[in-house]
Amino acid sequence: MSFMTSETRKQLDENLSSIRERIARACQVSGRSVNEVTLIAVTKYAELDWVRELIDLGVRELGEARPQQLVSRARELPVEVRWHLIGHLQRNKAEEILPFTQMIHSVDSVRLFEHLEKCAFKRQSKPKILLEVNVSGEQSKDGFDPTELLTAWPKMLTCDSLEISGLMTMAPLGDNAEIARPVFRRLRELRDRLRAESEGRWLLPELSMGMSGDFEVGIEEGATLIRIGSSLFEGVSTD
Ligand SMILES: *Cc1c(COP(=O)(O)O)cnc(C)c1O
Repeated sequence: MSFMTSETRKQLDENLSSIRERIARACQVSGRSVNEVTLIAVTKYAELDWVRELIDLGVRELGEARPQQLVSRARELPVEVRWHLIGHLQRNKAEEILPFTQMIHSVDSVRLFEHLEKCAFKRQSKPKILLEVNVSGEQSKDGFDPTELLTAWPKMLTCDSLEISGLMTMAPLGDNAEIARPVFRRLRELRDRLRAESEGRWLLPELSMGMSGDFEVGIEEGATLIRIGSSLFEGVSTD
């Protein structure tokens, strides 16, 4: 298309390469294989044309924070995209987004969990979900309190209509990524504990932790899914 489009593409390609290199380095440092870590491109601030370029560059896992935007973009973009809902989900939007999502990272209460169970049962689908945990205990954050989750777990683990894939968290924002390390470590330990207390029903293989500012720390602490927005679109401009 236009000259501007090719500039956008070039910048996205560069950003993508640089993020992939950083992922590879973090994997190497922690003795992990790059195949264990999936990059989810968070497109909530990106223009639709940039998202098209990303898809063209081979990106298939995309994340949106708002259910409405996820649905409208899923309708417009190729079906081979796998959409991750990473932001808060209200129960009255659950039914609408299920057909479009690969995974819901933001199941943050027993009420939402139970509602999704009902919707999934009705649809005869088995959606993948992650339980969002507010490890740091910040008031502003959604998510289960870890103790609350441990208490609710015996009842949740008998669920048949959802695939409980693992846990998700957000670390406190800050200039120093090391702030995230104890938070990510506690998420992993909580996962291990829930797995041990799941009567063999759930392996909880996925840990969704790490964003632009702290994904390397996430990988070092065992992340399998990292959610990256701003670094991916750095320097990409609107014309
Ligand atoms: C926006 C968002 C991200 C991406 O954050 P960046 O710092 O832009 O990489 C990741 N996870 C969630 C839940 C988000 O809302």
